[in-house]
Amino acid sequence: MVRGLLNKLVSRSLSVAGKWQHQQLRRLNIHEYQGAELMSKYGINVPKGLAVSSVDEVKSAMQAAFPDAKELVVKSQILAGGRGLGTFKSGLKGGVHIVKVDQVEEIAGKMLGQILVTKQTGPQGKVVSKVYLCEKLSLTNEMYFAITLDRKTAGPLIIACRKGGTSIEDLAENFPDMIIKVPIDVFQGITDEDAAKVVDGLAPKGADRQDSIEQVKKLYKLFCECDCTLLEVNPMAETSDNQLVAADAKLNFDDNAAFRQKAIFALRDPTQEDPREVDAAKADLNYIGLDGEIGCMVNGAGLAMATMDIIKLHGGTPANFLDVGGNASEGQVVEAFKILTSDEKVKAILVNIFGGIMKCDVIASGIVNAAKQVALKVPVIVRLEGTNVDQGKRILKESGMTLITAEDLDDAAEKAVKAAY
Ligand code: GDP
Ligand code: MN
Repeated sequence: MVRGLLNKLVSRSLSVAGKWQHQQLRRLNIHEYQGAELMSKYGINVPKGLAVSSVDEVKSAMQAAFPDAKELVVKSQILAGGRGLGTFKSGLKGGVHIVKVDQVEEIAGKMLGQILVTKQTGPQGKVVSKVYLCEKLSLTNEMYFAITLDRKTAGPLIIACRKGGTSIEDLAENFPDMIIKVPIDVFQGITDEDAAKVVDGLAPKGADRQDSIEQVKKLYKLFCECDCTLLEVNPMAETSDNQLVAADAKLNFDDNAAFRQKAIFALRDPTQEDPREVDAAKADLNYIGLDGEIGCMVNGAGLAMATMDIIKLHGGTPANFLDVGGNASEGQVVEAFKILTSDEKVKAILVNIFGGIMKCDVIASGIVNAAKQVALKVPVIVRLEGTNVDQGKRILKESGMTLITAEDLDDAAEKAVKAAY
């Protein structure tokens, strides 16, 4: 997540900790077809479409939804962008295909159950369990529109660009001046002037100005009422009959609002999420998967960020952010350790505990118990300090486990990097 334009516009910090702070806006991501249904309820123009999960459903779906269509857009549903330019592991190019109606079954068959790799999925890709059949619009103009939360103004920020379509990241790099940003006063709500500024930034060629302003206001209404952290429409398109249409949208929702957005949160699709994060969420752990080689287990978010930074400083890269919290149980520590050890990228594990409310002996017992349940194939570096540190050290020593002990954070990071690479 959090790659792309948002990162560039909103997050300026280059440290690992800064990146984490950006990621820690925990969110729910929903599929394009689900977002389209939600937008349609708010009166936002979206292409007509129907999602199917098997080739058998294609014919009847087409007859019901598009009896007169000659061509359809067949779109792979994965929780990542860049599908248009993506490639299937099978070799098929493109996760979005515009085809004649008699070819829809064939192309849907080639997408369903296959793994699609895009700029945003990572090399492992994501499985396509549904395809979205959409009416083919004749697009005459592709623009970019997004609403996100801005730290500087501490409120919603609308971003618009008169050029859009695929790869907004490249646009942001090459034509930064084309992108306009309109902060919205969250208490006042969006004004006509705000919406007009956004429409000026989009600069539609044929769409009615007042209609466009209304569309922008509806998008903002959805963003607020549904507790979105991101609403990104790319492309915001114009059709040959001068309609403004949200042709593809990505919607993220704030996890903290799950209690009042039950219908939306029921849409969570765990098959599309990082399996490490799914396991961590089950154990109620504060875990974020990253791409590096050093697994981290730390108590306290601040110390966890500092640990990641210091690993970087010594030339390593963290495999995750993990804050076991102040009152984690031994069972949670076991689960945390299992997640770290089952991660094949992890080449060393760094345990950094500064016992306060969290007691060092609880962590130590958790590690020893986890080691009994899972084969420990990588070196473990441990730095314990604070409450019950002597008991903790004794538990580790008596377990007979081979551990590398460290004196302080610097020493621990150095040893972890040495052990991993
Ligand atoms: P993404 O690559 O994951 O962002 O997928 P999109 O849904 O944005 O599709 C990629 C591109 O396909 C869009 O930027 C459009 O250029 C094109 N596309 C999607 N739907 C239509 C359509 O109905 N008509 C036309 N002409 N092009 C479309
Ligand atoms: Mn798109």
